[in-house]
Amino acid sequence: MSTIKIVNLRKEFKGNVAIEQLNFEFASSQVTCLLGPSGCGKTTLLRMIAGLETPTSGDIYFGDERVTDLSPRRRNIGMVFQYPVVYRGISVYRNIELPLLSEKLPAAERKRRISNVIEMLGLQDSAHKDITQLDNAARQKVAVARAVARQPKIILFDEPITNVDTSSKLVLKRALKELTQQLKQTIVYVTHDQTEAMTLADRIVLMKDGDIVQCDAPRSLYLQPEDTFGGWFLGNPGMDFFAAQCDARIDTGHVRLRSPFLAEPILLEGPAHAGELTVGIRPEHVKVSHTPSPRAVAARLVDKSITVGGQYLLTVEVQGERLKAKVEHQTGKSADETVWIELPIERLMVFDAAGERIHHPLAAIANGSERRVD
Ligand code: ATP
Repeated sequence: MSTIKIVNLRKEFKGNVAIEQLNFEFASSQVTCLLGPSGCGKTTLLRMIAGLETPTSGDIYFGDERVTDLSPRRRNIGMVFQYPVVYRGISVYRNIELPLLSEKLPAAERKRRISNVIEMLGLQDSAHKDITQLDNAARQKVAVARAVARQPKIILFDEPITNVDTSSKLVLKRALKELTQQLKQTIVYVTHDQTEAMTLADRIVLMKDGDIVQCDAPRSLYLQPEDTFGGWFLGNPGMDFFAAQCDARIDTGHVRLRSPFLAEPILLEGPAHAGELTVGIRPEHVKVSHTPSPRAVAARLVDKSITVGGQYLLTVEVQGERLKAKVEHQTGKSADETVWIELPIERLMVFDAAGERIHHPLAAIANGSERRVD
């Protein structure tokens, strides 16, 4: 359909930088979610793409066309906001039809598009109801239908689920998932909710402080964060981090890392990093056992609780430092008892002092010989 390219795009509000100088291309016909904590600049970026906010500097292109100076109307985009934009006092059908009337489409084409979008969003039973008879989630579906029926090349969503009642969130999320899978448009979707982004996105753009930290497929972003921020922000709870001491480069050309959490030192390829590095692991990758084993270290069980997903979250401590472990089965151990934790080397990630991922460990050293990561 159409790519969206932003070039050296920057936005300041009275001297406060909301968007750093950004360069990025949103892929055509894909759903890209802008994800990040409140205030990181997601909405500002989306509004600049829509033409609702003027950039301080930089340019925006839809395909090859420079749209930086075009009004929102002339950009031919569909937009869905946090609160549904619908007309009260008229039917669902008529709400969807109104924008098509101003486009002067033939009646048969209007009817075809409206029926199509009503079916895609499961609004058949409400089509002839007055909009005021609908709940918030259904009204938001109508707002989505209005944006989609015009068939713009680009559709922008600004947190469309945020203000829907908790009980209807799932219904709307499912409807949007089904819809976006069928659409061929380029979609940019703003959310601060990681589950929503994970469910809907082909690619997630993770933002922090007006900048893009990483752009990746949801699973890759979760499993391969390029920055400690991605490890921390994604996941519930986020990644565990602990400090590891870095030996000087050893003769094999590798660097050796040691930590009380590691039964065996691990090896890294590459230049020496003097002093300390940060090691990360997802809590669900920490193995917890009741019995000792050569690759596990003894830890004190500090706390255990159950998660929303029915797994168990354990907090364990080694030499005063704590980690969280997410396990499928309840442990029979009580607080202050000893458990053994193993951190599989293939699940470990190493970050430098600035929080950027360096690389994966290559091997662990056991009894003087290396055990390579497959
Ligand atoms: P949220 O999820 O809370 O909406 P966000 O990631 O969408 O957050 P933005 O709303 O884009 O973030 O805000 C980015 C920064 O720009 C924030 O510091 C915000 O206070 C500031 N900002 C946004 N709009 C304006 C404005 N109209 N005037 C002044 N500052 C603004």
